[in-house]
Amino acid sequence: MLARSRLFDFQVDIADRLSDYVQALLERLTSDAQKASKHPLTVVTINPEMIMAAERQPWLKTFLCEASLVLPDGAGVVWALRRAGVWVNRMPGIEFSALLLAEAARQQLSVALIGASAEVNQKAVQALTARYSGLRVVYAHSGFFTDATDEEAVANACANHHPQLVFVALGVPRQEAWMHRYARLFNPQTAFIGVGGSFDVWAGVVRRAPQLMCALNLEWLWRLLSQPFRIRRAGPPLAAFVWRVLTKSS
Ligand code: UDP
Repeated sequence: MLARSRLFDFQVDIADRLSDYVQALLERLTSDAQKASKHPLTVVTINPEMIMAAERQPWLKTFLCEASLVLPDGAGVVWALRRAGVWVNRMPGIEFSALLLAEAARQQLSVALIGASAEVNQKAVQALTARYSGLRVVYAHSGFFTDATDEEAVANACANHHPQLVFVALGVPRQEAWMHRYARLFNPQTAFIGVGGSFDVWAGVVRRAPQLMCALNLEWLWRLLSQPFRIRRAGPPLAAFVWRVLTKSS
């Protein structure tokens, strides 16, 4: 159902539908093999900014390369794969997470939400529990920590609540660093999902791109236009990524 494709040194999982990714993750989460494994599962929704950041940070590259499930989230990733002859559709992390939460509510899986400001975190929990009836949120905490000790205390408290799905919304690469540092505290039958700014959308404080822009794979443009501070952050890695795709074969 899922096929693995390569983009530079990275793996990307390819499937027809978002539900294929959700099903693959949940099957693996509850499998005997995972029970016996030492490592929890990690889900990455990969984009050009992440790929270029990983070129400068070896730990991030290892984290991305070892991820259990990699969804082609960035429009640039989809473009690069199609250019290399791999037909793939964009799989937005926020839509994957929404589907996973719906399934979590149905299957009574326990969920934790780490990230965003305390107010946004609380609003996101309220919105999600209202939307997905029966959703079991066993732990929620903002993503702003006073220091490393506080950050570790939050990770320990979260692990002590034994969530099966942990949604981490600290932005890239902070959320990957958090998962990389603290996954070892959790039961192997746990899946971590890095979700960037999704809590802001679920809390209703940030609007997602209009459907037409999403359908045209232009959500990145909407984000740059509606939050211009992103241009300085995302512009150079995006340009470097495009240059790399055009000058190197994957
Ligand atoms: N954030 C956080 N802790 C921090 C910095 C950021 O919890 O120390 C949150 C921030 O409030 C926002 C999310 O991380 O909810 C980052 O969202 P963004 O859209 O920038 O993520 P991206 O997907 O672009 O990396």
